[in-house]
Amino acid sequence: MIQDIEIGKIGTVIVKDLSRLGREYLQTGYYTEIFFPQNDVRFIAVNDGVDSDNGDNEFAPFKNIINEWYAKDCSRKIKTALHTKARNGGLIMGKAPFGYDKAEGNVHRLVPNENAEVVKLMFQLALEGMSCHLIGKELERRKIMIPKAQYMTSQGLQDAPNFPKHKYVWGRRSVHKILSNPVYTGDMVCLRRIRKNFKTKQSVEVPKEEQVIIPNAHEAFVSHADFEMVQKRLETKQRDYHLNPDNIFRGLVFCSDCNCRLAYQRSTSKTIKGTYRCPAHIRYRSSENSTCKTSHYITLEQLTKTLLSDVQMNVRLAAEDREKYAEHLRKLSESGKNSEAALCKQKSEKANKRLYEIDAILQKMYEDRVFGVISDERYIAMSKKLEAEQAELKNQLSEYAAIVEEYEKKAKGIDDFVELISQYENITELDHEIVHMLIDKIVVFGREKSNKETIQRVEIYYRFVGNISTNS
Ligand SMILES: [Zn+2]
Repeated sequence: MIQDIEIGKIGTVIVKDLSRLGREYLQTGYYTEIFFPQNDVRFIAVNDGVDSDNGDNEFAPFKNIINEWYAKDCSRKIKTALHTKARNGGLIMGKAPFGYDKAEGNVHRLVPNENAEVVKLMFQLALEGMSCHLIGKELERRKIMIPKAQYMTSQGLQDAPNFPKHKYVWGRRSVHKILSNPVYTGDMVCLRRIRKNFKTKQSVEVPKEEQVIIPNAHEAFVSHADFEMVQKRLETKQRDYHLNPDNIFRGLVFCSDCNCRLAYQRSTSKTIKGTYRCPAHIRYRSSENSTCKTSHYITLEQLTKTLLSDVQMNVRLAAEDREKYAEHLRKLSESGKNSEAALCKQKSEKANKRLYEIDAILQKMYEDRVFGVISDERYIAMSKKLEAEQAELKNQLSEYAAIVEEYEKKAKGIDDFVELISQYENITELDHEIVHMLIDKIVVFGREKSNKETIQRVEIYYRFVGNISTNS
């Protein structure tokens, strides 16, 4: 329409009321006040009694403001209503996520469908350390149709022109999208994205604390712990495994000095298959302020040997006496974390007491000020100081809470770990899958010489429990 006005095709614009022209008052105003008069267009808004030929649209700007306010109010009301709805038993906007259908009779509840097994398989492969790209390839090999193709087929649209050309070719991104969706843990996360405001269609991610999460809303395809593990894997860019099938520790080996991921290199030697080195050392070894003075060199064989014997030791301890082993792990974590957690609990109590005191003092000071016992200046100076202390205490409290939570998580992790390691009885060899199921991180230290002997420390961080070796 605008174009037609510009080339003079249109002489009169008639709308039912002003809000039809636009909800935004600046924009509406621009047309009624500037654009139409400039292009010699007569403008009529029937219900609002506006006709530019009568020259009586002084009231129009107010109408525009009211229209905008009305639209904003509606958008806010809808948002609030959605939140309430989400909190009272869930809310699914749009299609059900891949692997689920909306339940019959309740569109806000999810039930697994025949694709549940596909999603479970995807998480399983990701846990074993496969990259999104490779998972996609595996799905293709198994002739599993991509979600869009499946959906369109179910709607009878397989002959539509926009039906995917390659219905079995899974992109890295669509795999990633599924693996990072928390819905598969059984939690329903409502309103993960919302519209920026009522004026645009663009959506933005809602901060975690404002999302409405309903735990155990439907059947889970993956445990929370495994889901978190997969998220960690997704964050790190992984070279594809098939390039270096020997590198069973892919993505897990770190430098103790600079926290870099050690680089794997295939070796041409007959006895050594591959080696790890710190990339920061290789790159900056000649510069003076290099963080890494040594290469942190270790061979694949040395690392495998170290890891295997550590895993075997833990498997043996767990097999001998599960209860005793769990107790041993608990003690290990207590010696470090528990005392810290206990201390944090004590400190929190103290901080809470002080916060309570400050409240009482502020209250009393306020009364003193009302009755003229202290001057306004003094009141302001003192309350400022107390408020600063309050803020600081609140900060500390959230820090303490985080530490305690971390500890409690670890305590639960011990049971999970014992369960996990017990599955590997009689283990004689490590492979990619076992390593990625059991281990979170391996930290390699520089070589040290003592009495002609070279020693090299390797720290192993197991899943759920972290570093549990007693001798480091
Ligand atoms: Zn380094």
